[in-house]
Amino acid sequence: MRERGLKQTDLVRLAGDYGGRLGKSQVSQYASGKTMPRPDMVRLLAAILDVDASWLESGDAPLPSDARPDAPSACAAAPASPSSRSAARHPDSRPALSTSQSIQSQGSTTMREFKKSSKLDNVLYDVRGPVVDEASRMEAEGKRILKLNIGNPAPFGFRTPDEVIADMRMQLPDCEGYSDSKGLFSARKAIMQYAQLKHLPNVDMDSIYTGNGVSELINLCMQALLDTGDEILIPSPDYPLWTACATLSGGTPVHYVCDEEAEWYPDLADIESKVTSRTKAIVIINPNNPTGALYPREVLEGIVEIARKHQLMIFSDEIYDRLVMDGEEHVSIASLAPDLFCITFSGLSKSHMIAGYRIGWMVLSGNKRCAKDFIMGINMLSNMRLCSNVPAQSIVQTALGGHQSVEGYVVPGGRIYDQREYVYKALNDIPGITAVKPKAAFYIFPKIDVKKFNITNDEQFALDLLHEKRVLIVPGKGFNWGQPDHFRVVYLPRMDVLQECMEDLADFMSHYRQA
Ligand code: PLP
Repeated sequence: MRERGLKQTDLVRLAGDYGGRLGKSQVSQYASGKTMPRPDMVRLLAAILDVDASWLESGDAPLPSDARPDAPSACAAAPASPSSRSAARHPDSRPALSTSQSIQSQGSTTMREFKKSSKLDNVLYDVRGPVVDEASRMEAEGKRILKLNIGNPAPFGFRTPDEVIADMRMQLPDCEGYSDSKGLFSARKAIMQYAQLKHLPNVDMDSIYTGNGVSELINLCMQALLDTGDEILIPSPDYPLWTACATLSGGTPVHYVCDEEAEWYPDLADIESKVTSRTKAIVIINPNNPTGALYPREVLEGIVEIARKHQLMIFSDEIYDRLVMDGEEHVSIASLAPDLFCITFSGLSKSHMIAGYRIGWMVLSGNKRCAKDFIMGINMLSNMRLCSNVPAQSIVQTALGGHQSVEGYVVPGGRIYDQREYVYKALNDIPGITAVKPKAAFYIFPKIDVKKFNITNDEQFALDLLHEKRVLIVPGKGFNWGQPDHFRVVYLPRMDVLQECMEDLADFMSHYRQA
């Protein structure tokens, strides 16, 4: 690319001229070496770059300018010999190499190379992507990085309530065995009672599944629901695990827009316009990561109406439902849809500051008759993973009952509330940056005036900020946001650290122009 004078965005544009489709994030993954392109993509890239496909595939360092791109590469993949291929059909003979494995010659020795499965080709999870990798590299060199990138409360001094730890300690000796695959009775009972308080209809003990975090259950549901080509509506921006798991399962994520002009609420007209005969479900993230939005009842009713009209399943990720500010109330969408099949996700990672213990759950509610077969699939996958982490299940009852220490964080004088007030003002005070005030969770998703700063690549922006100020943020592209004009700030760090970060950001923006 360097030799041809091409930027990543040029490749995206040129791919269209060649009749292909190439996403910006795909190019950035290939360029950073995180993902190897599929063979058809290699051919397309080779044509655009006017180089030999086998050279491109070899993953060699860039050639010096006088080298011929079609020169034989030291690591060129050699096909398995015909004899080894036919021998593989016999059970006693050595297995043949699959297409995802190859023999590489390195001098006189032969090395077998293992490649990741092609299922992962289009799976992206940039919350821990190239910018974070670069920050880790810098840290390894001894540089101090100010991190505004992870929604992990513990490292920022948000401690697990003492009672929760004491209870786990006491119960640990009784947690040696597998539990029921859905979870311990005590945990599920407490979750059921919580579901009752949130007015989820038609929920019994069988409707509740615990998981190693909501993360495991998102993956489980996508695997159970989606066949190749099935579509699922997912917000943009999103918490990218939803898109990643839908893609991994063979489904097609279709992104609907959340409207910054309207407090980042889902754009109902856009949702409606994206429903097709292949759409099976809609995902909402409420309260939202990365925008911090909290959806009002009318918006939820609008989504229910669309789901009802097109017979869609609703997945509602509500992991931040207790982190709501300004005296607002969180409404579970499932409570508004007793006639539809809904799955509501929550857990203790954020509200109880125990992301590392790994405990989340999902609650099936509403019309389960239409989902009998899908529920059998869920049960099968739940049984296959045996059970979720039992010590973490053992504290669900304690955590959900009684005094909720999180409440103190989200009111004036509480750390999350005060830090939100500060970060919101500090960001909006920077010329060229604007941000909608978040109502919940601990994220803010500011907009950058890209013209002012000549920004065409948000990952580059994040890298430039990291290199100059050692402040780590995640660019909007990590949340499946289509334009290079946003980034996410996690405002969990203590006030003094946040202040230092915001001052550095303001200074950086006062002179930054992307090359
Ligand atoms: N859903 C959302 C919206 C999140 O932001 C996160 C974590 O950041 C998760 C799910 C994953 O949570 P868990 O720790 O329960 O796997």
